[in-house]
Amino acid sequence: MTQPSLAQRVLDGDRRALARAITLVEDDRPEGWELVREVYPHTGQAEVVGFTGPPGVGKSTLIGALTKARRKAGRTVGVLSIDPSSPFTQGALLGDRIRLTEHFLDQGVFIRSMANRGALGGLSEAALQAALLLDAAGRQDVFVETVGVGQAEIDIIDHADTIVLVLMPGSGDSIQALKAGVMEIPDVIVINKSDHPLTDTMVREIRGVLSLANLDRTPEEVKGSWRVPIVRTEANRGEGVAELVQRLDEHRKHILAAGQLEERRARNLRSEVLAIATARLRRRLEEDLHEDPGFQELLDEVVGRRLDPASAATTLLERAAPLERAVE
Ligand code: GDP
Repeated sequence: MTQPSLAQRVLDGDRRALARAITLVEDDRPEGWELVREVYPHTGQAEVVGFTGPPGVGKSTLIGALTKARRKAGRTVGVLSIDPSSPFTQGALLGDRIRLTEHFLDQGVFIRSMANRGALGGLSEAALQAALLLDAAGRQDVFVETVGVGQAEIDIIDHADTIVLVLMPGSGDSIQALKAGVMEIPDVIVINKSDHPLTDTMVREIRGVLSLANLDRTPEEVKGSWRVPIVRTEANRGEGVAELVQRLDEHRKHILAAGQLEERRARNLRSEVLAIATARLRRRLEEDLHEDPGFQELLDEVVGRRLDPASAATTLLERAAPLERAVE
């Protein structure tokens, strides 16, 4: 009897195969891409929820509590914990795993941390491929967690069906980020550690930001649209988690009814295709130019203020013709 392929084992939900598969995509190995190619037609079933928010607000604790609730309901769970700012894979791994220890031995829960791979800023793509693998392996709920509210974090969770911003009383920076439009309005806002006396003030502040965001929309748009709920939780005690589960389910129902799930996924896949293409193009270009004396001469012209950067880029693109070579 022949051994089933790695792809088949992933599709069968084999946890060890899944771990191996994620390592392959994390390491940007050709077998990883091949694997995703094979299992991709089986994806699209998982309900993907992305969590973001500053470090220490309680995201991991909250995901632990949600995992417990979903397991009770008989669902299987995958958790991807991603730290774009950490240069140490092991550090991120340890930190996040400690808080999810109670789920370690549960076959129905798969937990994985990923940290910055340095070089090409490919973490976002690797994370998305990993999410696809969890989906293919039959995980019904996939929770993707990122640390912080910067662009890299948002790129990652932007691909979720539902986006949750987790804050705690006193984390004013995040409200500023919302106000300034650094971050798009999430689908659900959680205020964790809500036994804090400043919780009510924070809820009011957030309501203010949300109503400001509504001013940009027509009354019709506001009418049929999703009202972002603000859920108060105390994740370490499991308080408010049932309400959060309910709000997540409501959001899913809403986007399904409004036809937005397909729309969202189409938009997200479009940006994923573009992101992968862009990363490959850049890599190819850098490889091509690495030992190209002509490129160095061009740069010297720019440095010497004889040629402006945009004109240099035009010359570069005309010469390097990287487009047809960027495949593979
Ligand atoms: P993350 O960095 O956002 O993932 O935050 P963690 O889940 O690691 O939580 C940071 C710390 O806050 C941990 O020590 C948690 O035990 C604690 N914590 C989490 N939720 C609550 C809460 O609702 N109330 C209080 N007082 N502490 C909490």
